[in-house]
Amino acid sequence: MTNTEFSIIERFFARRQKTRSDVVLGIGDDCALLAVPAGKTLAVSMDLLVCGVHFRAADDPAAVGHKALAVNLSDLAAQGAEPAWATLGLALPAPDEIWLSAFCDGFFALADRYAVQLVGGDTTRGPLTIAVQVHGFTGAGKTGDLRRDGACPGDHIFVTGTLGDAGLALQHASPEPENVHFAHLLNRLQRPTPRVQQGLDLRGVASAAIDISDGLAQDLGHILQRSGSGAILNVDALPLSAALRAVITNDETGTKALGLALSAGDDYELCFTVPPARLAELERISRSWDCGCTPVGLIETEPGLRCSRGDGSPFRPNKGGYEHFS
Ligand code: ADP
Ligand code: MG
Repeated sequence: MTNTEFSIIERFFARRQKTRSDVVLGIGDDCALLAVPAGKTLAVSMDLLVCGVHFRAADDPAAVGHKALAVNLSDLAAQGAEPAWATLGLALPAPDEIWLSAFCDGFFALADRYAVQLVGGDTTRGPLTIAVQVHGFTGAGKTGDLRRDGACPGDHIFVTGTLGDAGLALQHASPEPENVHFAHLLNRLQRPTPRVQQGLDLRGVASAAIDISDGLAQDLGHILQRSGSGAILNVDALPLSAALRAVITNDETGTKALGLALSAGDDYELCFTVPPARLAELERISRSWDCGCTPVGLIETEPGLRCSRGDGSPFRPNKGGYEHFS
């Protein structure tokens, strides 16, 4: 796309943002030059969004721009990292200015909210694909970041926000946007809120954390595997939104709703574990979280994930989380 490649970069990506003081050199050279603050560790993560897999060609491009960055910021949040910079790889079938302009509106609105500066990328012709890499900072020592491998038997398991909303929106190919409940669910799917502040607050409080991109059961499973432990979940404690409860009908036993809450992806909430001795600290820090957090289970010694109803009877989820190659 040599003819228009540079004008696209110039028009849509360069000089749109305030320059961070740690950006020595941003867009426009062969490399960006970035200064990691002394005593901090660089946290790096990348997510790929492919048209037809992660979003549809007809989706609002502003929402696609938002989500492309949001899912990456969610990874930084799960690591307890403070967002700083991003790079953007874009393959475009054609230089569609209307699409690009809206995509940038969504991307930069979220970037500016977290003071994330776009410092480079690559733009090429190809099937619509968006690769975003984010860079953030964690602190030093054991309390400077969050990891998957620190959960211990006896730790309490929490999730932020509500679960299953995005998955339910995905099941409705053409939801009625004028319905307030559908509008909420669709917004959860297309414009997830990365739990950045929650991740930062949880440093030194949570023993392990992960963001829920592929469903609670699967993502909590990663914590259990890395921590060498198991867990019991009380499915009747899973936080469900009013919108999800309103849209799901014919679900007397609650199995549809619980199936979504356990196995549907794309919610981008955090799942984290807290030792009993730090529960009071969690209570204090979570008071300012508008998304709240809910205790849903306990870490146990016996490997594997067990689900039970509130009355103690076992609950068998009907399907696993999202897996690209299954
Ligand atoms: P090179 O050919 O040296 O790799 P490019 O011509 O691809 O450089 O890019 C020129 C500049 O524009 C570089 O600084 C690059 O990081 C930046 N850039 C290219 N595409 C994007 C994009 N989609 N978003 C942000 N910056 C971009
Ligand atoms: Mg070069």
